[in-house]
Amino acid sequence: MSALLPLQNTYAETLDGLYYPLEPEGFPEPTLVAFNAALADELGLDSEAVRKAAASLFSGNTVPDGARPLAQAYAGHQFGHLSPQLGDGRALLLGELVGRDGKRRDLQLKGSGRTPFSRGGDGLATLGPVLREYLMGEAMYHLGIPTTRALAAVTTGDTVVRDGPLPGAVLARVAASHLRVGTFQFFAIRDDQEKVARLTAYAINRHYPTLLDAKNPALELLRSVARAQAHLISRWMLVGFVHGVMNTDNMTISGETIDYGPCAFMDSYSKSTVFSSIDRGGRYAYGNQPAIGKWNLARLAETLLPQIADDSDEAIPLAHAVLDEYTARYEALWLDGMRGKLGLTGEQPEDEPLVSTLLSLMESEGVDFTSLFRQLSTSLRGDPDPARELFSEADEFLSWESQWLKRVGEQDRVKTADAMDRINPLYIPRNHKVEEVLAAAHSGDYAPLQRLQTVLEQPFVSQPGAEDYAQPAPPTFGPYRTFCGT
Ligand code: AMP
Ligand code: MG
Repeated sequence: MSALLPLQNTYAETLDGLYYPLEPEGFPEPTLVAFNAALADELGLDSEAVRKAAASLFSGNTVPDGARPLAQAYAGHQFGHLSPQLGDGRALLLGELVGRDGKRRDLQLKGSGRTPFSRGGDGLATLGPVLREYLMGEAMYHLGIPTTRALAAVTTGDTVVRDGPLPGAVLARVAASHLRVGTFQFFAIRDDQEKVARLTAYAINRHYPTLLDAKNPALELLRSVARAQAHLISRWMLVGFVHGVMNTDNMTISGETIDYGPCAFMDSYSKSTVFSSIDRGGRYAYGNQPAIGKWNLARLAETLLPQIADDSDEAIPLAHAVLDEYTARYEALWLDGMRGKLGLTGEQPEDEPLVSTLLSLMESEGVDFTSLFRQLSTSLRGDPDPARELFSEADEFLSWESQWLKRVGEQDRVKTADAMDRINPLYIPRNHKVEEVLAAAHSGDYAPLQRLQTVLEQPFVSQPGAEDYAQPAPPTFGPYRTFCGT
């Protein structure tokens, strides 16, 4: 089996004391239900051979030779409250794979059984959330947004009890790494500076190796993570993605989106959009995400202070400056992204008010976020009606439209429209479609899931026959509520 998955183990070898070694127990009757052959290829694997062995490999029934499976320790602020011990309670890191591109990635089994971090939980995952994570991660990948990805999903043959009996499943997940803000917190709150320092060195080595020679590596690590997160969160905002549970244990050091639990794409534009049933205060609402990113980075900064400078009076202002940079960088990236979505080239002082006027119009009318930008490119191609029809207050939109057209200018409008369509997705995982395909999968019909995945592989390209995938949910659907993946 070692030839199938040539796993390496730098985490296990370098970070002794930061995890529990643990073999997966396996399951009675694993069945492969989804396999990502394209990703297997990128990882340099023999995808057909891996597919054949997938049920056994990804249920944990067969542990590849040379693998050193382990449960990672981490802590985290959950909804603002510190949980000193979280960790992989239902996941095991199998090891690392170096892909064709030379990049090292973790391979993790999620839902593989109990670990020393399971607390009261059963260590298991169920089919719905596993397929949801699979689907959402791949959707994000094809939108060009940094993300963990799914290599495979298997059902276990076991029944898992939640509100009722549900089919058990395991997700084989691939990530640049599973280092989180919470990984640093675990050791920092125990004042184990030696381990925080080893973790810092490992994170730099793995994700930001150019910092190895920096004068202040810990400060530069913070800066790099802040940059990666500013980029990531700006991309979420520009496609209307609501992560839903931005706890510090769900924020990566690599800058990839991780842990697709209660996440969903916003339909009607509103800054206060919340889908998660447990986010009653709206802490992780769409419009709060950039600020939460900064809050989480501040928690990372706290863990790094002793390494940034011996004297905290010296370290704190240095860290603060990085956090301020995050805000400025996020805002610049976001505004730049909005310019792109609206077909604006160059930078003009009126861009910011032009964007915010449109967003407040959209918010007051509950306009579908994804549809509008595609309809604006239709306007540039000479048919302004579809965009206008999205607004009932025609006068206000018409006045915005004329300012926008003036700003777009006389450049080739069809070319501008084409450029907008390469940025603004036509297809996103619409909530009602996601629910539809998961319900079908539950009854054993995976064809709708595969069809949706195929559509989402080319989110920017109009696909004949896929018209209904571009439509907002019918009025009978909703309000949409999502649940954590447990
Ligand atoms: P999550 O909400 O998936 O980010 O998980 C938060 C924490 O709860 C992590 O430490 C998970 O490992 C743990 N956890 C979630 N579900 C389970 C479960 N069914 N059994 C054990 N631990 C779990
Ligand atoms: Mg998590």
